[in-house]
Amino acid sequence: MTDVIQLLPDSVANQIAAGEVVQRPASVAKELLENAIDAGADKIQLIVRDAGKTLLQVIDNGCGMSETDARMSFERHATSKIRTAKDLFALHTMGFRGEALASISAVAQVEMRTRRATDELGTRLVVEDSRVTVQEACQAPQGTSNAVKNLFYTVPARRNFLKADPVETRHIMDEFQRVAMANPDVFFSLHHNDSEIYHLPVGNLRQRIVKIFGESVNKKLVPTEQETDILHISGFVGKPDYVKKARGEQFFFVNKRFIRSNYLHHAVMSAYEDLLPADTYPLYVLFLDVDPASVDINVHPTKQEIKFDDERLVYNFLKVAVRHALGSHNVTPTLDFEQEPAFQQRLTPPPTLSPPRDNNSVGNYRPERPADTEGAARHASNLEHWEKLYKGLELFGKEPSPEYEEIPLPAPTPSFEILEMDDVAATFSKGQRAPYQIHNQYVVSHLKSGFLLIDQQAASERVLYERYLMALENQPVATQKALFPKTVELSGADAALLRDILVEVNLLGFEIAEFGGNTFAIHGSPADLRTGISEEILLQKVLEQYKENLELQLGNRENLAHAMARNAAMRRGQALTTLEMQDLIDRLFACSIPYRSPSGRKCFIQYDLEELQKQFT
Ligand code: ADP
Ligand code: MG
Repeated sequence: MTDVIQLLPDSVANQIAAGEVVQRPASVAKELLENAIDAGADKIQLIVRDAGKTLLQVIDNGCGMSETDARMSFERHATSKIRTAKDLFALHTMGFRGEALASISAVAQVEMRTRRATDELGTRLVVEDSRVTVQEACQAPQGTSNAVKNLFYTVPARRNFLKADPVETRHIMDEFQRVAMANPDVFFSLHHNDSEIYHLPVGNLRQRIVKIFGESVNKKLVPTEQETDILHISGFVGKPDYVKKARGEQFFFVNKRFIRSNYLHHAVMSAYEDLLPADTYPLYVLFLDVDPASVDINVHPTKQEIKFDDERLVYNFLKVAVRHALGSHNVTPTLDFEQEPAFQQRLTPPPTLSPPRDNNSVGNYRPERPADTEGAARHASNLEHWEKLYKGLELFGKEPSPEYEEIPLPAPTPSFEILEMDDVAATFSKGQRAPYQIHNQYVVSHLKSGFLLIDQQAASERVLYERYLMALENQPVATQKALFPKTVELSGADAALLRDILVEVNLLGFEIAEFGGNTFAIHGSPADLRTGISEEILLQKVLEQYKENLELQLGNRENLAHAMARNAAMRRGQALTTLEMQDLIDRLFACSIPYRSPSGRKCFIQYDLEELQKQFT
């Protein structure tokens, strides 16, 4: 028999690799932004159209590339950032795999323009489907512009998998926020469909955080700084009176790289001890700078995890640092260790462990500049905010221009800086007026002929119910793994019931295992839930509801989906961001039966302008 193994052509290999690196528009944004940072840029613009599905462009004023390098940059495993395996342990760049551009150009059309300061002419390259279709000299400003057009046009299945625009926009904004937060010494802007959503001038970390989260957090930030032999901790934690029910304002950066860590989160939370209301989360933006050799970031390209040599030590240092910060601001009533008054003033230079990449990038260590004096001037009444929110809405429905390289940058509109970013995202990604909430209970959504009044709880129950039914079919809900499994002891009857439906319960995102007797270990719970209750309580409530539902004689699946939806749904009284409202509306009307909650309550009432007019006669 003849041999059958062949090497895959590059384009196919790239497309497979792209599946790993490029999962959604936000992944492209992250890669391009990080490349711009690595290129030493101090001005970076991100331009997005249609939640990145049509266009994602990053323009930087960094080092640029020679013609040969520009061509090379699209090859797989082509990188200027490491040369030997040893370099992996002394990484000072965000990138190092040399996979991003190759992967992106396998699933999209990429146009690159780049010029080095020393070159008179720049290079223009167009790469589609891993093939270079244009390579020519061109006029270009110093730096690099990468425009990624029609993402996933070669992989329609992938394209169809993308979420609604507000969701994809949110992901892009998350990535943007992370990179912007880690680099306050770099100017960033983000335009979406011709409107400027972020305009972040160079400043210190506090100013950057305030620009991103809004002026109201300014007074709530407590500086945190701790120097130890093995790491340098710096950043801010929020005062305990500034908390949110949902996570989303918690940031860890290790050597400027955003990471997620339940373990470190736990360290911070334990520093707050009893200061926080139950099930609330404080804001924090914490930078951990360590010797690159002592961490392993060489995990999956899209993973945000990290391994420290000595996690326990890092945990303890972090806890002490946060407690110290809260303590020296009289936020914690007592301290369990010595106060160190000199500590506050001590803004040490970076530890030698982690030398900055270049003299532009020491932002984290830079002593605070004098407070932002424009601050007061930026104050505006709520009313003004709303007016501004609606200003310019007429632009939104505009068709994307086919000549993507010639998109004119609109003049900066500083008014947007003071808006809630969630609000802006939702508004901008929809081409229509933003929905709003009344009495933290109903959502008003504009229609051409009137408006809808949506009961948020009923609607959320419907949305989750259908989601859970699907989960029980074949599309399990994602699980958030717990760092420390919790055990829960149930009554004999409940334990028996749970044993019966354990497989199904786990499809809903739980990861529960029998632990002997009537005890169960909860290793994980459904991701993306905002119930504000712990997983054990949620589980118990679901079991309660399940038993109550038995009378209704639903099928097992319907019963479980219903019980879970009831308990996981948004509540009346819960304040929603515009983005959450928009998401709720989008999902509700994607339901097969959007009209009623699974318990039979109406999800919305439609008001017709004409009918209303009549009532005013
Ligand atoms: P990596 O960042 O892991 O090296 P990429 O595929 O993202 O891999 O980029 C490949 C190479 O292209 C980089 O190593 C860098 O030399 C070059 N490059 C990419 N983007 C830029 C940019 N914006 N400015 C200058 N050089 C760039
Ligand atoms: Mg890169």
